[in-house]
Amino acid sequence: MLERISKKVEHLLNVPSEVLKPVSVPKEAYDYVRKQYNSTVILKNLLEKVTPDSLKVIGITHVDLFIPVLTFVFGEAQLGGQVAVVSTARLRQEFYGLPADEFVLEERLYKEVIHELGHTFGLVHCSLNKCAMYLSTSIKFIDLKSSGFCRECQKQLNKSLQLLKTDR
Ligand SMILES: [Zn+2]
Ligand SMILES: [Zn+2]
Repeated sequence: MLERISKKVEHLLNVPSEVLKPVSVPKEAYDYVRKQYNSTVILKNLLEKVTPDSLKVIGITHVDLFIPVLTFVFGEAQLGGQVAVVSTARLRQEFYGLPADEFVLEERLYKEVIHELGHTFGLVHCSLNKCAMYLSTSIKFIDLKSSGFCRECQKQLNKSLQLLKTDR
């Protein structure tokens, strides 16, 4: 599934993408009271794993994530930064008491990966609910989104990508 998503990302952004070796979730990110993992701590940990030849690194985890002001997050990214993390915990049909569906999971995961990637390229939330940059506070909003950016967000993304290419 990750290989397929990586290929789609490569196609969407027109930059090479690869699936890296798995790393463990940092123990210090676990909150014993909430029984969830602090996504900001995971991001810090991921930053240490970024190699000079990688533009962005997206962590995919099965653990449930939170930031202190919210009950949960589907993911978190550094705005205009290098790293992001996405959790599959609440993207699975089983979480909502439904039978497992790998196709649905893959669609949702891809949408969330490109959403968080968008943030790393400096994109903020979009008001169009079909756009990948729309803020999804619940699973139904993820399902409503398309797996692409609206014209405005795509334009901004292209600009960021262009800047990076001329930088290098
Ligand atoms: Zn967001
Ligand atoms: Zn948009």
